[in-house]
Amino acid sequence: MKILVPCITCMKDAAEIFRTTGTSPSAQVLSAEMEDTGVVYVSCNRGHKTAMLHRNRKHQILFESGCLAFLDNYTNEAVSSFSAALERAYEFFIRVAYRKLGVSSALLELSWKQVASLSERQFGAFVLIYPIITHESFKRPQKISELRNKVIHSGYIARSDEVFEYAGTVFSLIRKIVQALQDKCSIEMWAEINEAAEMQRGAVPPGMDWAWTARTEFDLRTDLTFDSWLTELKEERRS
Ligand SMILES: [Zn+2]
Repeated sequence: MKILVPCITCMKDAAEIFRTTGTSPSAQVLSAEMEDTGVVYVSCNRGHKTAMLHRNRKHQILFESGCLAFLDNYTNEAVSSFSAALERAYEFFIRVAYRKLGVSSALLELSWKQVASLSERQFGAFVLIYPIITHESFKRPQKISELRNKVIHSGYIARSDEVFEYAGTVFSLIRKIVQALQDKCSIEMWAEINEAAEMQRGAVPPGMDWAWTARTEFDLRTDLTFDSWLTELKEERRS
């Protein structure tokens, strides 16, 4: 997946120029490939090689990818990304829950291997672990798996209105999952996020400029609906 990112060194240079002169050259924004870890390495035309580290976990990155596909009218690709985002949110919950329950990460990895390519079994694991943490059952609307399966397994061509509704439901479900983690295992959730972030930082070659970035659609401090988030994203793409 390619995304638009600025060169970190050029950004720093521009900030310094602005500090000393009050004017600033426009920042170079480049299209660059995101690695599976959420790191984007950028080579600008001034010869800098820098790294932008996305602190967001996979469910956030994939959700945003779905939004971008939707805004470009690729409805089937959007459904695929939205459903992958929800599946990774289940995994995120399970990983944080294991921390909360004091189960070793080695045992989780060993167990996860057996369901790593089986999304419905992952959901099965999630739906049984969720009540252990929250003392509530998790209800997934039937239409979520119906549209996903029609698109992925039957080649159904999804209409924009049904994808918009689908995305809104996925958005609410992921925020519900994040809210449950925030309420019940905030320390473990941040430990999971920070551990992944440290791995990203550790992978950046020594001496290379880097910076963190993060999106806000699942930041519970902001009062967002899917519609308002999509409008924000649309505005950002225009600017
Ligand atoms: Zn540069």
